[in-house]
Amino acid sequence: MPRIPYGRQHIDDDDVRAVAEALRSDFLTTGPRVGEFERAVADFSDARFGVAVSNGTAALHAAMFALNIGPGDEVIVPPMTFAATANCVLYTGGTPVFADVDPDTLLIDPARVEAAITDRTKAVIGVDYTGQPCDWNALNRIADRHGLATVADGCHALGASLDGTKVGTLADMTVYSFHPVKHVATGEGGMILTDDEALDERLRNFRNHGITTDARTREESGAWFYEMHDLGYNYRMTDIQAALGSSQMKKLDGFLKRRRSIAARYDREFAGTNVRPLGIRPDADHAYHLYVVRIPNRDAAYARLREDGIFAQVHYIPVHFHPYYREHLGTGEGLCPVAEAAYTEILSLPMYPDLTDDEQTYVIEKVLEAACA
Ligand SMILES: *Cc1c(COP(=O)(O)O)cnc(C)c1O
Repeated sequence: MPRIPYGRQHIDDDDVRAVAEALRSDFLTTGPRVGEFERAVADFSDARFGVAVSNGTAALHAAMFALNIGPGDEVIVPPMTFAATANCVLYTGGTPVFADVDPDTLLIDPARVEAAITDRTKAVIGVDYTGQPCDWNALNRIADRHGLATVADGCHALGASLDGTKVGTLADMTVYSFHPVKHVATGEGGMILTDDEALDERLRNFRNHGITTDARTREESGAWFYEMHDLGYNYRMTDIQAALGSSQMKKLDGFLKRRRSIAARYDREFAGTNVRPLGIRPDADHAYHLYVVRIPNRDAAYARLREDGIFAQVHYIPVHFHPYYREHLGTGEGLCPVAEAAYTEILSLPMYPDLTDDEQTYVIEKVLEAACA
């Protein structure tokens, strides 16, 4: 019996060598390899600045800090995402406000965003869910009209683009995760991209206890001097992780190519069946972190696939269904009907570069069987 997960990392000898080199160097925590990795990801995404942090959740937290989100502020988020997208607003004392998703793509619906805006709204976080960019043209227009900041939770979307513009510059800040199931693995890791120098500086201070990195302050007062201006955290990335990240970045084009070819085959084989992939916007170039389908009798199909050694997943339980949100924000059924209905039907099928053609043949056969059962 095979054992096929929904996602996993690809690590080769070059990656192992890169990490071993870092281990033998002078730097274990943040050193030159972190800067190199930041440059590689920012350049790949056509962004000016990249700030590496310890994980994607820390990156979202840093973005909320950089925007000064605090008590009384509202930030609009989609429900169809990992909890961290909304949790980051709570970390800085703000209130996440859920705006429902589009039924075809399950991306945040710009019309629902506009309807959710109040005089307390400060920002919108769009999630480029499954690896497809949100309708950033519409979201940015709304944000401009109402004076809001935009943040892309691009944790699924490294390598995606919209109308030829890469994810990384479509919002004021873009957040990536380097968790092993994502496109590029560093063990744990995250990054915030921005074109804005002031945001870049706030993000850098925040990941290092809020201690200023301003060279002028140091020169004026002697090299040992430093000052803490904000209550930051230790969210630094290590050189060990960055070494792995830079080595993985060299393979990213190949990873994306393989993910897209796996998706194209799923698309072909499921066409005209009752296994229905999510819609794709015509202007989107999809990065396929996930391949999500709607399938009849989802719970039974999930269980049946497990018996066949196929470990599909559900992305996601709507965030506003989690007990914490029900208890603390009074959310629940009926708040986002589109996401709630989709949640009962969706299943993420195996999608990772090392999935073989034979494995995919087996997955397709079993998924079609499960859908007809
Ligand atoms: C993975 C992920 C995160 C969190 O990233 P971590 O590195 O696991 O902290 C946030 N948002 C989305 C949409 C994700 O998929």
